[in-house]
Amino acid sequence: MKEFAYPTPFYHHLLTPDGRLSIEVINFLVENLNYDRSILLSSRWKPIKYSFLPHRFDAIVIYKTVYYRPKILNNDLLFWLELIAHEEWHRQEVGNHFLKALFWYIGYGLEYLRVRMRYHAVKHEIRAYQRGFGFEGQPSMMHGLLSANHWERYYVFERRIAPDFS
Ligand SMILES: [Zn+2]
Repeated sequence: MKEFAYPTPFYHHLLTPDGRLSIEVINFLVENLNYDRSILLSSRWKPIKYSFLPHRFDAIVIYKTVYYRPKILNNDLLFWLELIAHEEWHRQEVGNHFLKALFWYIGYGLEYLRVRMRYHAVKHEIRAYQRGFGFEGQPSMMHGLLSANHWERYYVFERRIAPDFS
């Protein structure tokens, strides 16, 4: 039996090595938050080595790809699940069709101007924050799922942090 080297980066169990969401994460989002499975299946998560992201952003959705900062790799499991819930909600709205996606980005841009570039007032962001990271002091839907009555679900993920050497 091999030595269990902790902490092995747990994101390998939330994301596959080629940057797809793990089937556990997909099922979790479909069953608990009604996310569309086909959109989750087509998402790819890619680290950006030399980040072009503005400082405050940890990730950005560009059509079917979620680019994320390598520095966030060592964050905890809850952070990752919040991030996935948030970014994958953007993906849900962006969808899998190019024209639909294009209109989403135009709508986002117009909304951003309408609220005078206050990022946290953009409706698209409010909807995503309600699902991941929370909005105006309210815990997110993801946080709600993982807290109180749903800790067993949390442990489903946590067990998978441990690499399977059996
Ligand atoms: Zn966002």
